[in-house]
Amino acid sequence: MRKTVIAGNWKMNTDRSSGAELAAAVMHGAGSANLPEHADVVLCPPFVVIPIVANAVAGSRIRIGAQNVHDQPRGAFTGEISTGMLHSVGCTHVIVGHSERRLMFAESDYDVCRKANAVVGANLQPIICVGETIAEREQGRTLEVVRRQLRAALDGIFEFSIRTCIIAYEPIWAIGTGNTATPGQAQEVHAFIRSQLREMYGSAAAEDVSVIYGGSVTETNACDLFAQPDIDGGLVGGASLDASAFTEIIRAAI
Ligand code: PEP
Repeated sequence: MRKTVIAGNWKMNTDRSSGAELAAAVMHGAGSANLPEHADVVLCPPFVVIPIVANAVAGSRIRIGAQNVHDQPRGAFTGEISTGMLHSVGCTHVIVGHSERRLMFAESDYDVCRKANAVVGANLQPIICVGETIAEREQGRTLEVVRRQLRAALDGIFEFSIRTCIIAYEPIWAIGTGNTATPGQAQEVHAFIRSQLREMYGSAAAEDVSVIYGGSVTETNACDLFAQPDIDGGLVGGASLDASAFTEIIRAAI
């Protein structure tokens, strides 16, 4: 059975002290000891804040994710971080292909594929982001774009490891804008993603993959989004920086 996943992408926010405080407040608010087995709450702080947050949530069911990774294990890649380094500080998840990385740091579908494969190969769980721009949606190209990004990212990932992958549908026009996709718009794309997974990996595997929604999720719209049959949780940016809002979102999902 697929898991519910609620991930908080802190982006380039917090430092050691505010990060530790936020993690402690989320732990307290979410009742981390009593989180159900079928749900994973994942905090994704900036790299340098990961160790202190990992320390703050140690012993709880809250997981730690990174926001990016390099696809090579080591070497002359100034400024980059490897999967092994992430393992060593307690990460279990890694966001790959976030639209901010695709758009601002020129990450291609091929880069995303290499990263996703490196993450899976290191026994970490990738949260693979896909989603269309507003222009692509207006041109009626949403499903075509999502299909291309999804198939490219999953190239080289086989049926035996697809269940470790989490797919995040994040329409770019909804990220940080307050323009959340309607539950119907999101469900349409999530169902499409699952149909693609079915074609690629078969029905049983496709049913087990968590497909989560991101784009201006708040404590107000979370319930309606998560009530959709193919929406298995959320990737939350802005609202994950507010412990009480994020806690409400977790409650809406579990
Ligand atoms: C994100 O950046 O992944 C995101 C979904 O941001 P926000 O929730 O702020 O729209």
